[in-house]
Amino acid sequence: MTVAVSPASVQIADSTIAPALDIRHLTVRYREIEAISDVSATIAVGEHIAIIGPNGAGKSTLLKAIAGLQPIATGEIRWFGNTQAEPNTIAYVPQRLQVDWRFPVSVSDVVLMGRVGRIGLFRRPSAHDRLLVQRALERVGLAAFANRQIGQLSGGQQQRVFLARALAQEARLLLMDEPLVGLDIPSQDEIFRALASLRSERVTVLTALHDLQQASRYFDRVMLLNRRLIAFAPAREAFTAMNLVATYGGHLHLTSSGDSILTIADSCCDSSQMTHHD
Ligand code: ADP
Ligand code: MG
Repeated sequence: MTVAVSPASVQIADSTIAPALDIRHLTVRYREIEAISDVSATIAVGEHIAIIGPNGAGKSTLLKAIAGLQPIATGEIRWFGNTQAEPNTIAYVPQRLQVDWRFPVSVSDVVLMGRVGRIGLFRRPSAHDRLLVQRALERVGLAAFANRQIGQLSGGQQQRVFLARALAQEARLLLMDEPLVGLDIPSQDEIFRALASLRSERVTVLTALHDLQQASRYFDRVMLLNRRLIAFAPAREAFTAMNLVATYGGHLHLTSSGDSILTIADSCCDSSQMTHHD
């Protein structure tokens, strides 16, 4: 990595060289509970990061803090070199989507909502906005569903609608909180395909995940989180037995046979979350 040196008098962050995220000694509390403690990490523009950890590890808290939705107790976050996040540049897809699926709106309407921050609430969307919506739907494999009522979609398709909305927003930073929970394999593959297509635009992605194999396959680096940051490295370096035990503690059973590790995190949701990592 090259570092450009600018004159000391220049105070304006150069977003072309600044990292997408610079997290320094971040601590977030809910009253007396310290949800995350002293987390530091620097994430380059365009990197795809998986956040791995048991339930209660602070994954959602970290994502919310990065999204600017959760107050920071101590430490700081810099977004593209700036101490303030610019909302339009961040797309956040929360863990559970509070949406009334009976609400009679179409798939393309929901995706168009991603443009509101750019076009303003009271202006009419332009042809350009419509084109971005169309492209976003193509990316997540839902072009044929544009005019469908959202209530008619499967769970996997609904999740992809929210990813499409984030894409239409043209965010530079995409934060997704366990987007794969409850999705069938084809729907999961569609999400990974859409994420891969963001690489050419250097969109930075942080995704909370439960599957170690998917983390190592689709992400540049993984964060192992259990209140503290246990490791932050490419998967093959991060997923050592020691780090996994530190992350999952008593919730982890490790069986090793040859090159493969079978990890079963009983902290999660159901048996479909059991992970085979090789
Ligand atoms: P994860 O997403 O990894 O499961 P969370 O970030 O949701 O972890 O939670 C981290 C810790 O913070 C947990 O102990 C959880 O109980 C606590 N917590 C999360 N949200 C709240 C909240 N709104 N109020 C109080 N405690 C919370
Ligand atoms: Mg969570």
